[in-house]
Amino acid sequence: MDKIEQNFLHALQTVLGQPNPFVPLHEPEFMGNEWERVKDCLDSTFVSSIGKYVDHFEVMLAEYTGAKYAVALVNGTAALHIALLLAGVKPGDEVLIPALSFVATANAVSHCGAIPHFIDSEFETLGIDPFALNDYLNDFSLSSSEGLTNRFTGRRIAAVVPMHTYGHPVDMTSLLDVANRYHLPVVEDAAESLGSRYQGQHTGTFGRLGTLSFNGNKVITTGGGGAILTNDAELAQQAKHLTTTAKHPHRWEFFHDAVAWNYRLPNLNAALGCAQLEQLPDFLHRKRLLAQQYQEIYREMEGIDFVVEPANSQSNYWLNTLELRQPSFEMRDRLLTAANDAGYQCRPTWKLLHKLPMYADCPHAPLPVAEQLEASLINVPSSAKLAGAGI
Ligand SMILES: *Cc1c(COP(=O)(O)O)cnc(C)c1O
Repeated sequence: MDKIEQNFLHALQTVLGQPNPFVPLHEPEFMGNEWERVKDCLDSTFVSSIGKYVDHFEVMLAEYTGAKYAVALVNGTAALHIALLLAGVKPGDEVLIPALSFVATANAVSHCGAIPHFIDSEFETLGIDPFALNDYLNDFSLSSSEGLTNRFTGRRIAAVVPMHTYGHPVDMTSLLDVANRYHLPVVEDAAESLGSRYQGQHTGTFGRLGTLSFNGNKVITTGGGGAILTNDAELAQQAKHLTTTAKHPHRWEFFHDAVAWNYRLPNLNAALGCAQLEQLPDFLHRKRLLAQQYQEIYREMEGIDFVVEPANSQSNYWLNTLELRQPSFEMRDRLLTAANDAGYQCRPTWKLLHKLPMYADCPHAPLPVAEQLEASLINVPSSAKLAGAGI
């Protein structure tokens, strides 16, 4: 083992303590009212599509994020799919998304029959670079009465989807400027950023619609789940309608007015969500302490930086992230091997989406920063309960 691997492992050990025998990347924690709420839900027999917890959970989410409306769904991918439809994405359109994202961002675009168009990221936020996006749009797009089109493919460009990577907010002021300049609707993929704020405002509330995920590895979990956030009453109503089989409320009549989806969050999952959301401030507090511990120990280290929250932002530090100063897949994989062998579950960032077989033919901008980030980012164990574990 080289010096850099030894230093890297030693730092993990100092922050996290002994693995005994294994430290997962991110584990949920059920130390609040989870058992009570779920039991109450079971006792009520309303475990499925009807029940008070879905409404509670939606109200709590809206209050917490400051969005006027929250609509609870089965998962984050479904939420993004419906949010894109409601933003006006049609089959054959292109949607601008970061190349550096989880595959669900691109899949949601595909589920609309649309084509992802991959955009570069910036080092500070790990999210879409608004200035690179502006220059790129200037080169390849045409504005007409039809809206914005790609001058090379002739397809309409229907929306832009900023994603707040590992909880670090995108530079939303600049991104909204670009989106407004080109009349592009913004749909935020805030799946990873519940609890993250940009200039004090919660992520997912800047665009026309925003989406959250409550998968088992996210900041809070409902087992599986997601939500759409919006300030638009009409869009919120449509989101609810389209995700509940487009059924008109009636005591016995089955009248549906569109081909729609059964994407609603079951009451049982919402019960878990209410209990989890009650603890979010505590989770965030402890995750921030853990991030500070990582930051301190990696500050001194040669060759490795700790990714800190961007200026004007408060990150939820969903997944703590290290960055190799010299991007290298070889070095990255050596560090990953050393950490995983020692019982610390560490992961690389995602393979860039345009390199996946089903997205290989999609258009993409030049991606110099995303390419470097791909070879330099490493996620380290990030569960809230790890704060102070090494002491
Ligand atoms: C988790 C995640 C999603 C999708 O969430 P699911 O609930 O797993 O469907 C979407 N986008 C990003 C960036 C994610 O990390």
